[in-house]
This record gives sequence, structure tokens and C-alpha cells, in this order.
Amino acid sequence: MKVTILGNSGPYEAAGSACSGYLFEADEAKILLDCGNGVLSNLQKFCSIEALDAIILSHLHSDHMADMLVLKYAISIKNARRLMNKLIPVYAPQMPEEEYNRLNVKDAFILNPITEKLVLNIKGLKITFREMRHPVKTFAVCIEKDAKRFVYSGDTAWNDNIIDFARGADMLLVDTGLQQQDKTSENVPHLTSLEVGVLGQKAKTKF
Ligand SMILES: [Zn+2]
Repeated sequence: MKVTILGNSGPYEAAGSACSGYLFEADEAKILLDCGNGVLSNLQKFCSIEALDAIILSHLHSDHMADMLVLKYAISIKNARRLMNKLIPVYAPQMPEEEYNRLNVKDAFILNPITEKLVLNIKGLKITFREMRHPVKTFAVCIEKDAKRFVYSGDTAWNDNIIDFARGADMLLVDTGLQQQDKTSENVPHLTSLEVGVLGQKAKTKF
């Protein structure tokens, strides 16, 4: 398993950086997790668009999906010019409906809704989902191969589901949006850096 950080800024990218996007690879499988501003440019340094097996969007805030709106052009143009010959499966929460519908681009994506019951099998990877706590519907993602588990939280406020979902993970990739002293209420939509440390301890993750 290999994870490449393509961008981790939010809610907008710093100069020369990119918003959330992570390339997960295992053997022949290549999966893009989130696709915020600047991710498409960085992705192509490591992987061609046509090599992607699937794109999984944890949630539909712009800093996690904005580049999907230009990636659709890339896929439809490459297919029209016979530079590639496939559509890319995309998995995303169905809410907000307006954002989900913008991804329903028939000549680029094969769009599928994420639910907690969804189980994907992609080139030997088992992929499962758990709903998190955020202002829009958001899912954490677990990718398993040969009893090794990688878990990505997506954006989330503190909740017990992430502890349970991440338990014993070989690698945990977590959203953090602020430091503990800047948390002014329980309604903050992101984990603090302290909470991320506590989560790692409670879930007994390896990395
Ligand atoms: Zn968000």
C-alpha cells in the first residue's frame, strides 16, 4: 500500500499548494481519494488520469471536489481523441443534491452514491464506509488488502464512530483543521490536532 499526498490545504489552497487529494496505490490498483483544487495537476505527476480505477469523494465541499469539475473535461476530451477508452467510476455522498448532480457527467464519470452499506471490491481491495460528523454528509473510507487496513477520515468533528472505524488500522489519515486552544465550541466541524492524537491512541492505530 502506498499513499501519496497530492494536496492537504483547506478550505483554500496556499500559494503553490493544493486542497485535499490523496492517491492510494496497491499493486495495480490506483484510487484517488478526494479531488480538491490543484489535485488534478499534482495527480498527473504520479499517475495518468486513465490509470485511475476509481475516485472516492468523502464529501462534497469544494475543497474536496472542485477539480472534478475540470477533470470531467479531461476525461471527455481524452476519450473523444481516443487517448483513453473508459469512463471513471466515481463514488460520493448523494447530498448536497445540487453538488452530487453536478458530478453526473455521462461522458466522463460513472456516478454512484456512497452509503454505509456500500462495499466495493476493486482489484483485490475491499473498500467500506462510515458516516462522520460534518456540516454536509461525509464518509470515512477504509481500504483493506491482505488484512492490512488504511483508513481516511475525511472532514469530521469528534465522534465515536471514527474511533470504532479506525480501530487497529495500519495507517490512519485524519483531517485536522485547528489547534485545541482555538476550539471555541463543540460545533467546530473539524478535529483539533490534540483530538487527532487522542484518536490515534484510543483506536490503537499503527501509523
Ligand atoms: Zn468539509
